[in-house]
Order: sequence, then structure tokens, then C-alpha cells
Amino acid sequence: MKYETVEHCYLCGHAKAEPIGQLDDFRMMRCKTCSFTYIDHRPVEMETDELYSSYFSGSNADYGKCYQGYIQENQHKRSSKFHLNRFHKRVLKKLKKYAPGNQLLDIGCAAGFFMQDARDSGWEPRGIDIAKPALDFARTELSLDVAYGRLKEQQYPDAAFDAVTMFDLIEHLYAPLKELREIHRILKPGGILCIYTPNVESIKRKIQGGRWYAFKPREHNYYFSRKTLQMMLEKRDFEVLYSRTGYTRWLILPNFRNRLRNRPWLLKLVNGSLKLVNETVGRVIFKPFELFNMGDAILLFARKKA
Ligand SMILES: [Zn+2]
Repeated sequence: MKYETVEHCYLCGHAKAEPIGQLDDFRMMRCKTCSFTYIDHRPVEMETDELYSSYFSGSNADYGKCYQGYIQENQHKRSSKFHLNRFHKRVLKKLKKYAPGNQLLDIGCAAGFFMQDARDSGWEPRGIDIAKPALDFARTELSLDVAYGRLKEQQYPDAAFDAVTMFDLIEHLYAPLKELREIHRILKPGGILCIYTPNVESIKRKIQGGRWYAFKPREHNYYFSRKTLQMMLEKRDFEVLYSRTGYTRWLILPNFRNRLRNRPWLLKLVNGSLKLVNETVGRVIFKPFELFNMGDAILLFARKKA
């Protein structure tokens, strides 16, 4: 694989930065001028399409390893009539409050589980992704309107959408400012962009440094705080309406769970136990930090300025 070195801050252009975490020979660098955080070297972009194509199905050893079994695991969970995705419910409630209409685009829609919940609450969702098997699932199993490819290839007309969502995606991009310009173009006046991304100012990143779960060389190019995400959005004429952190889990163990994916009953037991641990011990230890916006991930809503 061909790599490139990142020498300047993507957000402000300055070159002075300090490392705040290291894994193998990859370092997370924090800009001394604007505090934006980025990886010091990465695969060149054109080599990543093929690697991401199997992201949720796991035939590639390096990319998205912890998402092997993602589709089956979620499909199983969602088959229960008592299933409720609290995160989706929360996002849809806020979108309904802010967005002018019901045309929605989910960028990085994967298997379409969010789109499915959106459709159930009255939205007309479309989705795009570059992970082919996940898209096939969304199209054939869930009958969703999805397309293969990156945003710039879709050539949507101006002002086509009332809302755009990007969950766990912006940190993977190479040129997020370009993506935001395109999102601004395809949103209606007053349209809403919702972003969910790991929080580099979280208590766990501060404690764990290079072992932080979201530090993923070769996948995550940029690491956002509420401040730097807002700076980037303001550069592209978005007004931030809501920005909070939360969703802190004490234990995740993706690799361990992945090894159990052929033993559903054991996986169910482990998932249940993790949930119990996270909702008791994890809540007591980490919840208080969310009051200071040091939770695992940022949830943000921004409005396209006229
Ligand atoms: Zn900077």
C-alpha cells in the first residue's frame, strides 16, 4: 500500500503540531494553532475504495475488522418486536424539529438500518455508500433507495434534500471541507446536517492515548472536538444548532465479540453482559464526564445558512 505524509493542518494550514497518541508508527497530531487533530501518515486515497468495499462484511484483514458480523448481529437484534434503537429515535426526533421537510440523504448508509427507522417515521430516505455487500443488503432485504459511490459522483441537483446525515463517516474522509461544500449545495435553504463522530477530547482518549478505540490508522484521518468540528462547519456556512457529547461505553471489546460471531448464543450472552457492565459500572464512572462534554462521541446538528 502506498502512503503519504501529512505535514500541515488540514483546517488552518499551519505545520506545528504535537503528538497526543501513538499506535505502531502512526501518530495522532494536534495542531498547535487551532487544535485540529490528524494522523501523521495515511494510505493515498485512491487505494482505499477497494479496501472499503468489504467494510461491513469483513473479507479484508485490515479494514473494518471490528464490523465483521455487523449486518447479522443488527438484523438479529432488530428482529425482536421490542427492539428500539434509542440513538436513531433521538436523531429523528431532533431532525423533525429542525428540518423543513422529509427528503433525507444518509451518506455512509451501510446496511440501511437508520434509513429503515427514518422511513418508519415518515421520512423519504435515500442513501449512498461504498461498501457493496452492505448496500446490497439495504436494497434487497430492506427495499431501500440506495446508490453506490461517493457523494461527488452522485450529481444530485441543488437544494434536493431537507436533511443530510453522516454517522461515523467524516473522520474517514480525505477532504471533509469539499464534502461539506457539496452537502451545502444539495441542502435546501434552512436544511439540516447531522454529524456523529468520535470525540478527541473525550476522557477515554485522554486516558488511553494511542489505545483509544477510535484511533484507527488507515481508516480515521481526522479526529474532531466540538470546537474543531464547529470551526470546519462555519467555514462552509453552516450554523451549529446543537452539539453535545455522550454515548460513553466502558467496555466495547470488538475483536473479542468478532471471534464469537459463529456462536450466536455465546455472543448474545457476551453482549448482554457487556450491556449490564456498561450500564452499571460504566455509567457511574464515565457519565459525570459527559456533563463536561468529554463523552465518547459528538452528536451535532447544523443548519445551512441562506
Ligand atoms: Zn490547525
